[in-house]
Amino acid sequence: MITTDILIIGAGPTGLFTVFEAGLLKLKCHLIDALPQAGGQCSEIYPKKPIYDIPAYPEILAGDLTDKLLEQCKQFEPGFTLGERAETIEKQDDGTFIVTTNKGTKHQAPVVAIAGGLGSFEPRKPLIHNIKDFEDKGVEYIIKNPEMYRDKKVVIAGGGDSALDWSIFLSDVASEVTLIHRRNEFRGHLDSVEKVQELKNKGKINLVTPAEVTGIVGDQKVKAVVVTQAQHIEKEFEVECDHFIPLFGLSPKLGPIANWGLEIEKNAIKVNNALDYQTNIPGIFAIGDVNTYPGKLKLILCGFHEATLMCQAAYQIINPGKRYVLKYTTVSGVDGFDGTRKEAPKAVVKAIQ
Ligand SMILES: Cc1cc2nc3c(=O)[nH]c(=O)nc-3n(C[C@H](O)[C@H](O)[C@H](O)COP(=O)(O)OP(=O)(O)OC[C@H]3O[C@@H](n4cnc5c(N)ncnc54)[C@H](O)[C@@H]3O)c2cc1C
Repeated sequence: MITTDILIIGAGPTGLFTVFEAGLLKLKCHLIDALPQAGGQCSEIYPKKPIYDIPAYPEILAGDLTDKLLEQCKQFEPGFTLGERAETIEKQDDGTFIVTTNKGTKHQAPVVAIAGGLGSFEPRKPLIHNIKDFEDKGVEYIIKNPEMYRDKKVVIAGGGDSALDWSIFLSDVASEVTLIHRRNEFRGHLDSVEKVQELKNKGKINLVTPAEVTGIVGDQKVKAVVVTQAQHIEKEFEVECDHFIPLFGLSPKLGPIANWGLEIEKNAIKVNNALDYQTNIPGIFAIGDVNTYPGKLKLILCGFHEATLMCQAAYQIINPGKRYVLKYTTVSGVDGFDGTRKEAPKAVVKAIQ
């Protein structure tokens, strides 16, 4: 059982900033995310795109913003359960909540902050009749640990950036990489398309287009995929492999959270925005893109604001009756849970008499 003060569901920008704000109040956080990495939409959908409306950053790449948020909250030593989806929540007699993931990991906390954005991203699965039989037995929809593919034969399917980038990356790791796409044209960055072409010419990537994987062959594990190639006449053949990785993108779904008894409006969780972003269940908050209230804007800076106010209410739940006096970080400094201390040099902060 993982125990913490605030259990955050979703490690997007809102969830990551919550760790910092909670840390200032000496509250510890643990984050669960269905994706294998932190950053939410910023790292999964548009890591290389510049954002122009983050206060004090005239321009910052979404991936760099994630790195900065991770750096900022590191001192408060957040725990992470990545690559697992929060599935169920149970309220205990002592008022705490137990949240269990799809892999069975249990987390207990007096406060739950849902920062689930558009929901958990579910992989788009190809329509192959026996694909379910091979999930985690050679079929993976998300690459969590590239080392798993060292010296293995890998077939990747897809025509976007993910399929191109992973084919390039794994061409140095796997013993054989075959990239299969139903069209001759790819939808990725020109650089990536050119790199794949170069690796194909060097014999480091086998490119099969226009073609589709239409079946999987194997017993307990994937042994080969059946490929149907449609050029002048349709032909079918097998490609031997240890892993088949369909990379057809991710679609967001509110998912299991929708069944937690929370008030939902248009696929978002209703909160009390006049006060603290609490939901209809006391102790469960919803912040960032996942919530809704009159005038809601789905922007990163709004998630930051909501996280800050929500932490103040969490403090009251965890420390009933205790008064918290807001202090500027320029005055109080920041004491990390890792023993570090940041403070402004005394000469810089003039006292007001
Ligand atoms: C292309 C694009 C461009 C954008 N540009 C801007 C911009 O310029 N400025 C701006 O302010 N905003 C922009 N946005 C919006 C911005 O990215 C979102 O407002 C922001 O990501 C919301 O952060 P969040 O942490 O609330 O949610 P998200 O970033 O969506 O993160 C939520 C996380 O929760 C996880 N999750 C959900 N449910 C579960 C579950 N049950 N179990 C485990 N994990 C779960 C998800 O996997 C996800 O990682 C853009 C969005 C897109 C798609």
